Amino acid sequence: MLDARTRNIKFLPGVGEQRATLLNRELEIYSLYDLLYYFPYRYVDRSRLFTVAELTGSMPYVQLCGEIRSFEELGEGAGRRIVAHFTDGTGFVDLVWFRGLRYIKNRYKLGTKYVVFGKPTIFGGRVNIAHPDIDVAESLLLSEMGLQPYYNTTEKMKRAGLNSQAMAKIVSSLFASLGKEVVPETLTPEIITKHHLMPLADALRIIHFPKNPVELRDAEYRLKFEELFYIQLNILHYSKERTQKYVGHRFSKVGDIFNRFYNENLPFELTGAQKRVVKEIRRDVNSNHQMNRLVQGDVGSGKTLVALLSMLLAKDNGYQSCLMVPTEILSEQHCATLQRMLKNLPVRVELLTGSTKSKKRTEILEGLSDGSIDILVSTHAVLEERVQFHNLGLVVIDEQHRFGVVQRAKMWAKNNIPPHVLVMTATPIPRTLAMTLYGDLDVSVIDELPPGRKPISTTHIFRNKIDQLYSFIHKQLLDKRQVYVVYPLISESEKLDLKNLEDGYKQLCNVFCDYKLSKLHGKMKPSEKDEQMRLFASGETQILVSTTVIEVGVDVPNATVMVIENAERFGLSQLHQLRGRVGRGGEQSYCVLVTDYKLSEDTRKRMEIMTTSTDGFEIAEADLKLRGPGDIEGTQQSGIAFDLKIANLARDEQLLQYVRNVAREVVDADPECNSLEYKIIWDTLRTIKRDKNWNWGAIS
Ligand code: ADP
Ligand code: MG
Repeated sequence: MLDARTRNIKFLPGVGEQRATLLNRELEIYSLYDLLYYFPYRYVDRSRLFTVAELTGSMPYVQLCGEIRSFEELGEGAGRRIVAHFTDGTGFVDLVWFRGLRYIKNRYKLGTKYVVFGKPTIFGGRVNIAHPDIDVAESLLLSEMGLQPYYNTTEKMKRAGLNSQAMAKIVSSLFASLGKEVVPETLTPEIITKHHLMPLADALRIIHFPKNPVELRDAEYRLKFEELFYIQLNILHYSKERTQKYVGHRFSKVGDIFNRFYNENLPFELTGAQKRVVKEIRRDVNSNHQMNRLVQGDVGSGKTLVALLSMLLAKDNGYQSCLMVPTEILSEQHCATLQRMLKNLPVRVELLTGSTKSKKRTEILEGLSDGSIDILVSTHAVLEERVQFHNLGLVVIDEQHRFGVVQRAKMWAKNNIPPHVLVMTATPIPRTLAMTLYGDLDVSVIDELPPGRKPISTTHIFRNKIDQLYSFIHKQLLDKRQVYVVYPLISESEKLDLKNLEDGYKQLCNVFCDYKLSKLHGKMKPSEKDEQMRLFASGETQILVSTTVIEVGVDVPNATVMVIENAERFGLSQLHQLRGRVGRGGEQSYCVLVTDYKLSEDTRKRMEIMTTSTDGFEIAEADLKLRGPGDIEGTQQSGIAFDLKIANLARDEQLLQYVRNVAREVVDADPECNSLEYKIIWDTLRTIKRDKNWNWGAIS
């Protein structure tokens, strides 16, 4: 059997030392295996003939069959060219060469039947094909030529002659050199038969050199199936192992503090969705298994309260909890909220961040290790080794997408028995992505907003209408409402962005000179940030000019207007997050997206979705479709979405669900992973995990 993984690419005919180096550096192709899995990005159908009469200037590559009637030499210097007048009886096209003029004339004969292949353009009212591929018609069996593969190559490669065609040649010599050797199968005969899959060896050959679109589709299906299958298998296998291995802390009682809070302190009735999710959590923490639950809830759905109730369950059962949030601003806000809500109850809540002063820090570290602190609100600071808990029973991770899997793993290690983990995300992760990234988490959804919320009214305006916007803002300010104005700051180091913010701030100070403004961006010292945030939250300032640092979690119910400048520079999910900063009180709220007049098609779509939908899940799905999964926050850290060679999470949702069930059957049928029937599968999984460094499944 062939072990393509260990065979170096440089020994292939037509490759050699130099090209191998290029392939290594430019495409990370080292072994025959890498090359086999370097799939074409498109195909051109060479089995189909067009007629000259059908041609338009906007067609991709076409193929014609006919003869050359005459040659003509035209132009001077660089414009010198040779033109062959070619016809198939339905009309004429000009075949044009700018290089190798003499050679062309000798090579092609008048009156011979040729098959011509190239991209037609219309020039001066005539159809032209520059530098076509030409073959004698009789020598070609068109039905066998099938689809021609096109490979992505880099500029460097093209300069060295390693273009798409050369890649196709190398791949073809790879198949020639394989001869009778067969690429080992990775799925069991049962799975292949039951799900009507093509053998792997065939699929790999066909994906490179398909004869027709039907065959290509089947090959793609097989390869996508396999790719998604192993991702799901890894997740499901791991999650099964985990539930068996770890006994969870058992929070068996709903005690005094939970009840007192619920009856005396809770200022409102829980929504039905909140009640349901709290119930799901209670069942988990009382089950003897470690909980790993993802709570998805749109912005403003009241996740904090669910977190708090869960932490009170921990407290009533004698355990500590930690609430982790992604920014200091948010951690302070959460800490203050919790302390306020827990007033008069014997629960000690403390805050630990990177800027906690050393005296206070020592005090907190002590409180954590002697167990006197019940709830710790923290940022990344909690991950440090020296932060030790007395008995950590529950970790709540808020706005989860800012934390990578590695950080979550560190929290696990803070206790002998891993704490229960509750992950809360306001970025609704599309189903497909959730299944791939967090397939081993149980999912709860808070799909109901607290009563009395009015949907946020969203409009999109061009910058030339900004005066109208300002008078609208004036009215809102007169009504004692507050306003956010957000500028894009994608990377904290972008000077240009900072200038936009500063200019905007100055301008707004002029326009709204009767009001007070706060300013907030990531370059400010934490203490300055806090002060600005505090001023806005307390209503001492009425307008907050900010970058996206306010994106997550900030809660100022009196703010009713969110203006987003240069809205074209934000992704959909981010726009939705920002919009979620308003509409948190009972007042009608507004979101205004400001852009330049000239917009790309893509931006136009985004603006349209934002103005027509307030449903976070719908928006997240649209975002996934528009941008592809690689761009979605959270997937960067895990790197999984990037690894997909052929499946597409946006398009292959159905297949993913189907394949997940197949993977589940395998895990259920062979829980010990030792049956001979599935040996192929476990071996393959082990190899893939080693190759791709797939350790993420073990720590989510
Ligand atoms: P998010 O899910 O975005 O984190 P929060 O937990 O910040 O939402 O809640 C948003 C606002 O709604 C807060 O001001 C909170 O006090 C309020 N809230 C939460 N649950 C309810 C409820 N059941 N009824 C009324 N208001 C609620
Ligand atoms: Mg929140």
